[in-house]
Amino acid sequence: MKKDLYINGEWLKTDHYTELRAPYDHRVIAEIASASVADVHHAIASADRATKVMRKMPAHQRAQILENLAILLREKRDEAATILATEAAKPLTTAYAEVDRTIQTYKFAAEEAKRIHGETLPMDAAPGGEGRVAYMVREPLGVIGAITPFNFPMNLVAHKVGPAIAAGNTVVLKPASQTPLSSLFLAELLAEAGLPAGALNVVTGSGRTVGDQLVTDPRIKMITFTGSPGVGTSIRQKAGLKRVTLELGSNSAVIVDNGVPLDKVIPRCVGGAFSFQGQVCISLQRIYVHEALYEEFVERFVEQTNALKVGDPLDKETFVSALISQGDVQRSLDWIAEAVGQGAVVAAGGTAEGNVLHPTVILNVPVDVKVSCQEVFAPIVLINKIASVEEGIELVNDSRFGLQAGIYTENVHKALDAADELHVGGVMINDIPTFRVDHMPYGGVKDSGMGREGVRFAVEEMTELKLVVFNRN
Ligand code: NAP
Repeated sequence: MKKDLYINGEWLKTDHYTELRAPYDHRVIAEIASASVADVHHAIASADRATKVMRKMPAHQRAQILENLAILLREKRDEAATILATEAAKPLTTAYAEVDRTIQTYKFAAEEAKRIHGETLPMDAAPGGEGRVAYMVREPLGVIGAITPFNFPMNLVAHKVGPAIAAGNTVVLKPASQTPLSSLFLAELLAEAGLPAGALNVVTGSGRTVGDQLVTDPRIKMITFTGSPGVGTSIRQKAGLKRVTLELGSNSAVIVDNGVPLDKVIPRCVGGAFSFQGQVCISLQRIYVHEALYEEFVERFVEQTNALKVGDPLDKETFVSALISQGDVQRSLDWIAEAVGQGAVVAAGGTAEGNVLHPTVILNVPVDVKVSCQEVFAPIVLINKIASVEEGIELVNDSRFGLQAGIYTENVHKALDAADELHVGGVMINDIPTFRVDHMPYGGVKDSGMGREGVRFAVEEMTELKLVVFNRN
């Protein structure tokens, strides 16, 4: 199956195609177009022309297109989930959950399209402002360059394309090389939903070639990037005065205080650590448990980890499947070995079969080994002992990242202290850091990025505030 580029509402051939293989069994699932420099220029020019159409399109029509898209996705839910399971090795149950969230994200975007507004400003608050009426409006930026990662190929694309269209922008989308099929599927659906030609263009191909051009082309007014901190930093350095939103990685942590109900907490933590093989930006990587609960917590956590079904993503029972690449399996094994070399103890997993790394639990992990201080992005979690919530907060904050953090405690004072002191974009009280729904503001501090997604907040990033002052004197 050959997949072409989607530019200006048409499927276009290019000179080079690369094989796309399924991460689980390595079978070839498609041949994907590799965009040339000229192709990217063509896509940007189309998006630039389409800004005139999108800027004038009334809000109700933008909302209707997004609403139509949500309806089409619901009708094609099975097809969408199978694409995700195949190209990303996303276990089917998780894949269906992503499709459902994608539908919600587009519905939120449809609703948001109708309430993008400014405010009025009392000009007479300043001497000399009397007799003037001032109001602000939010205008679309123009062409948005969207660069997306492999781990949520539908919903993280929705978090960029949905708000961009809601606000009247146009998009050139560069999906991750491992997961282009979801974006090409979206292009088909959006055309059917009534989006004008050129308003969404999908250019597949190498991150460096396509990405660099998007980041440096002056016709692109904003780059919205989700991916690794390394690539995010290089984008920021090259983007000049373009607006940039960066949603990057983390080594998210939870604190478990004495006296919390472990029956509820442990299954939630197991899910947060191993869902989609830990390849989630807010995957639970570090668990800090009060010493009074530690032994019991570890024993029950390990038991539940060993019960997780590992295998084929297309099997509905599977909870943990293949990592995205063989290189990531080897890296994970190396990082586990490094931790063990520094005195850590593997309590579950620690081995791989093919591209599947068994869900791994590590204890007594020093703070400076990679499974603790880097983003592990694999089914590996550490459980360390703490003497107090205060110690837990210090450990959570001892990180270059700061996306979300969680704390389980029955003590309201400790909960509110943690909310004050945790240096992250979002604090989850009595939940894991992995909690996210699609309308909440979402994004990080420190090396976890800048700017916020969550539809309303992304719309703010993707619009420009304009002031109008009417002099009645
Ligand atoms: P990645 O390697 O950084 O790739 C992300 C995207 O950037 C891909 O489309 C990639 O294209 C492209 N790219 C690569 N080099 C580029 C360059 N020089 N210029 C412009 N674009 C370039 O990330 P990933 O491995 O796909 O995703 C995992 C990372 O994403 C993790 O760090 C995870 O935490 C982060 N993430 C963050 C969030 C969040 O909301 N904070 C959500 C999900 C994931 P190719 O695929 O062609 O290389």
